[in-house]
Amino acid sequence: MTSIRPLPDLLVSQIAAGEVIERPAAALKELVENSLDAGAGEVRVELEEGGIRLIRVSDDGIGIAGDELPLALARHATSKIGSLAELERVASLGFRGEALASIAAVSRLTLASRRADAAHAWRIAAQDGVLAPVEPAALAKGTVVEVRDLFFNTPARRKFLKTAATEYGHCEEALRRLALARPERVFELRHNGRVVWRLPAQDAHARGLALLGEGFAEAARGLDEAVAGLRISGLVGLPAYSRAGRDAQYLFVNRRFVRDKLLNHAVREAYRDVLHHDRHPAYLLFIELPPEQVDVNVHPAKTEVRFRDAQAVHRFVFHALQRALGRAVDRPLPEAAHHESGPAPGYGRPAGPGAGHGGGGGRGPGVFGAGWPRQTGFALAREPANAYLAMVQDALQPGAAPAPDTVRFESDPALPPPLGYAIGQLGGLYVLAENAQGLVVVDMHAAHERIVYERLKAELDACRLERQALLIPLVFAASPIEMATAEACAETLAAMGVELAPVSPTHLALRALPALLAQADGEALARALLRDLAEHGQSEALTARRNELLATLACHGAVRAHRKLTLPEMNALLRDMETTLRADQCNHGRPTWFALSLAELDRMFMRGR
Ligand code: ADP
Ligand code: MG
Repeated sequence: MTSIRPLPDLLVSQIAAGEVIERPAAALKELVENSLDAGAGEVRVELEEGGIRLIRVSDDGIGIAGDELPLALARHATSKIGSLAELERVASLGFRGEALASIAAVSRLTLASRRADAAHAWRIAAQDGVLAPVEPAALAKGTVVEVRDLFFNTPARRKFLKTAATEYGHCEEALRRLALARPERVFELRHNGRVVWRLPAQDAHARGLALLGEGFAEAARGLDEAVAGLRISGLVGLPAYSRAGRDAQYLFVNRRFVRDKLLNHAVREAYRDVLHHDRHPAYLLFIELPPEQVDVNVHPAKTEVRFRDAQAVHRFVFHALQRALGRAVDRPLPEAAHHESGPAPGYGRPAGPGAGHGGGGGRGPGVFGAGWPRQTGFALAREPANAYLAMVQDALQPGAAPAPDTVRFESDPALPPPLGYAIGQLGGLYVLAENAQGLVVVDMHAAHERIVYERLKAELDACRLERQALLIPLVFAASPIEMATAEACAETLAAMGVELAPVSPTHLALRALPALLAQADGEALARALLRDLAEHGQSEALTARRNELLATLACHGAVRAHRKLTLPEMNALLRDMETTLRADQCNHGRPTWFALSLAELDRMFMRGR
């Protein structure tokens, strides 16, 4: 047994480093954050072998005085906060004062810097925790940090590094997050001598395009809403652009990249209506609020945050996104709907004075300036269907009242409505219609399901869900689980307009349904609802599950495939689609219709016109 003694300093730093610097990308992130905190307008990153061999970060920021260079490499030395009060409203990216010390403990590090008022630059080198004396260096401005041979003296950690290609991928991703958050700064990335990115100072939209690809930007909607010091702006990907994985999810709080359970949940909820549960949405979102409303000091890697009023933030994000997604295929909302005024219910304190660099404090122009596109058009501008969507939009403009179909039918019979008139039914699944441009094909079940769903939701929201009592109760044999669920969830069911009660130990009776579902197969519908409820139990509140239950109802209430529709029925469906929010996507995010213009048909048949 050995006696108790303090750990050597170097070992302490190496242990600390293990917590925050697990791979080159983590070191890179710390270095670039330092550059950003130093007010750099331009950050250059050079990597060799995925950052394992070399990470060099150069900036044109304020620099470090020669006599402070040793301090910059000391643990718990920082220029960014000096008191607990400051910690509470920290706006800089770093503040723990341990990144440089940690990296220096596990690499060969040199730091060269020059302040604007200095006659020349100074540099310091560190290896194995020993600092070489500060010496003069040549550098025009700013700071250059060089990190070579990461983990050369901690073989156990080095073993965990992956291939250079993999480590490079992590580095690129880390830098992408930082560059997305700071579009006004210039970034350059080189790997093994080759330039990978050269990003000029630009607006957030252009930066998003440059880093996330045009495909995303085209299939996304802009949003920008603010309320009482809380602001959200950015781009939400349309359901059609959903992914199998969670890549392409960028969420920033006060320009800090976060992966936060609460926020993720709010986003997921907003997409729930339009996205199948095993698909993942793509988004680039910036949330800004006064720094004292959010604690970023939760986790060393700092990707989690804690909000003072988590519920208010959740509500705000959820509603803003839901509106943006709803608008995506609906008419543009009038300006008033952007909620610039009025406090968010329950949202803590009003915005404090703006923070220094870093948090936008929810004031001023926000991350997204005026250049950010509003959701006035449709992203899939090149898609043929777009022309029709635009027509639907036009028809639904506030000025176009009364109802567009009345206008089109009565005052100008020569002009067909946007989705046209039905010609017939194909394969028992599709309604074919002719409009001014050509052919419209509708997936009748999916489209009807969407309509029923939106109407149910609207009726419930307005607290006037119309119920229809069955003349003769529908009695059916039920399993013990179904019996138990019906009893336990009677209230939830009643709230959705479904009256279902035991009539014997083995039988249930359905006595009422939402009127919209009067045509549905009551027994199948009741069983599906019970299955849904049983799966999730009573734990989740009705509000959280409501829309899922409505979707189940809608699916059963919608016309079944292979049902013969009459022409007037088909036309009624088309008119309903034109007036229903989000009618071009079914509940699972599938499209519900598409169009083929005469010009496209001509091209197919090689007909010159
Ligand atoms: P922290 O960022 O948490 O303060 P670091 O260990 O990352 O801790 O950096 C220590 C200090 O070194 C910083 O507080 C800052 O004063 C200085 N520093 C580090 N990098 C730079 C840079 N690129 N430009 C100017 N100062 C820097
Ligand atoms: Mg730092």
